[in-house]
Amino acid sequence: MGIAKKIRHINRRDFLKLGAVTASAGLGIAGLGNVLKGAAAAAGAYPDPVYRTLGRTGLKITVVSFGAMLTPEHEVMRAAFDLGVNYVDTARRYMNGRNEEIVAKAIKGIRNKLYVATKTLASSNTRKEIFQDVETSLSKLQTDHIDVIQLHNLSSGDRAFIPEVREAYRELRKQGKVRFFGITTHSNQAEVLKAVTDDPERFFDTALVAYNFKSPPSLKEAIARAARAGIGVIAMKTQAGGYKTDELGPLSPHQAALKWALQDANVTAAIPGMKDMDMLREDLSVMGMKLTRTDEKILERYGKAIDPYYCCFCGQCEATCPQHVAISDINRSLMYAEAYGSMELARATYDEIESKANASACLGCDGCAARCVSGLDIASKMRKALSMYA
Ligand code: SF4
Ligand code: SF4
Repeated sequence: MGIAKKIRHINRRDFLKLGAVTASAGLGIAGLGNVLKGAAAAAGAYPDPVYRTLGRTGLKITVVSFGAMLTPEHEVMRAAFDLGVNYVDTARRYMNGRNEEIVAKAIKGIRNKLYVATKTLASSNTRKEIFQDVETSLSKLQTDHIDVIQLHNLSSGDRAFIPEVREAYRELRKQGKVRFFGITTHSNQAEVLKAVTDDPERFFDTALVAYNFKSPPSLKEAIARAARAGIGVIAMKTQAGGYKTDELGPLSPHQAALKWALQDANVTAAIPGMKDMDMLREDLSVMGMKLTRTDEKILERYGKAIDPYYCCFCGQCEATCPQHVAISDINRSLMYAEAYGSMELARATYDEIESKANASACLGCDGCAARCVSGLDIASKMRKALSMYA
């Protein structure tokens, strides 16, 4: 669909207003085009869905798929599905266990048109636990199968190779309860991807990875290797937290950030969290759009604005902490509270951390020895976590 069609709902007054906004943000004509496309979607014109193949699963999924993590109303998901989105990612632990139930309502009656991905708990490493997780998810989702079951939150390659877990996943597939296996990772991601890519058994078919314009080149390379090996890579955290900043005036960096992730052909799809219809419009309208020089400028400015507090979860600081505190996971939990505004998710993420590696280990330290590669003040983040989760 051409830009002319996309902007058919914008009248002259809107056009002039948008021009003034982009001029004040110093973005010029190219920026205006960008904003017009977003505004076109806001006015009700959506692009046709764009699909890519999810690695060796062969599933054709929409490049903008649905991250259900923080969506309180099933109608928002249903609207996305009605517009052609065909992949939804959830987990039982989101929203204190309610998230899969919301997805269940959204997929009711159209289950066979959609692919559903969920996760076993990060603490589940035995056959019994994996079976329990999958049975519970099937019942909460009110479905007889899960398309992609993901081993959640790997921070090293080791957990991908636990024989008992693999056996349980295989048995579940034989029973027709799950179709494909995936992993998710937030920290030490390049190493985790390398482990599943080099696995001679080619056990895992997909990888859900935190990937955005702030990610290091080593992650981009690891994603390329994984994709070449047939692993379907899905990007999450594409907004680098989605922190609010005044740096860009009234313009949102979100479409630019989403386009940045999708311009990487080794990424099959992104799963932005869409809490409401405004977010849905903003995200879905990106399908088919290209990353422009203006987008790059927006991301440059946005990136600089969030530098003082953005943690990319690389985990490199953890080797410099004598207590091996899970600094990247703690920072991720802080991001859920501060940027996503979800204390529930923040607390659930923090509670997943082993007690010996949470921020209480910092109480025994006279001074913080941990060093961040980006210069973040780790001590103050740990103090914040201590007071927040006390
Ligand atoms: S204060 Fe710093 S060095 Fe000490 S345990 Fe906490 S993160 Fe590690
Ligand atoms: S605090 Fe710094 S070094 Fe540690 S995970 Fe975050 S960005 Fe990496």
